[in-house]
Amino acid sequence: MAHNHQHPQDIHILADGSEEHREPWVVTDNEVLATAHSGGVCVHEGARFELAGRGQLSGSLKLQSGSSARIVGQHSGSLHVASGSVADIVGSQSGSVHVERGGLVRVHPGGKMAGSLHVAGLIENRGSRAGSEHISGGTIQDLEGGSVKQPIRRGDRNYYSL
Ligand SMILES: [Zn+2]
Repeated sequence: MAHNHQHPQDIHILADGSEEHREPWVVTDNEVLATAHSGGVCVHEGARFELAGRGQLSGSLKLQSGSSARIVGQHSGSLHVASGSVADIVGSQSGSVHVERGGLVRVHPGGKMAGSLHVAGLIENRGSRAGSEHISGGTIQDLEGGSVKQPIRRGDRNYYSL
């Protein structure tokens, strides 16, 4: 399969302190994660990834152009949404969110998104969100029912709790 992008390896520190390099999970069809998974996920064009209600993903989730993802469970890690791809957050997303121009993130009622937002595309929030905003040509829309939680400041750090 032709690739227009790299798959950087994740480094996992094992119990004995040694390092292991792992390739990301590459999704090229429709796949559902209903268990816990640690490591990066790359969703390719035309593919669809669903993190089911009991699913837990710890690692980056990258949507290539023309792909989609639905997060019903819990994702801890960065979310990258390329142009022409869509991420639906029904459950919980914690980690930085990067939306390229032409990319779309929809936070559904009951959905939660916490982490810094880097937005060149569009975020539609009908759930709740918290985190710093870095707008570079994009838009964040807080629609009906959508809320924005303010950070709790402790010492010199901001904490977000949804
Ligand atoms: Zn890939």
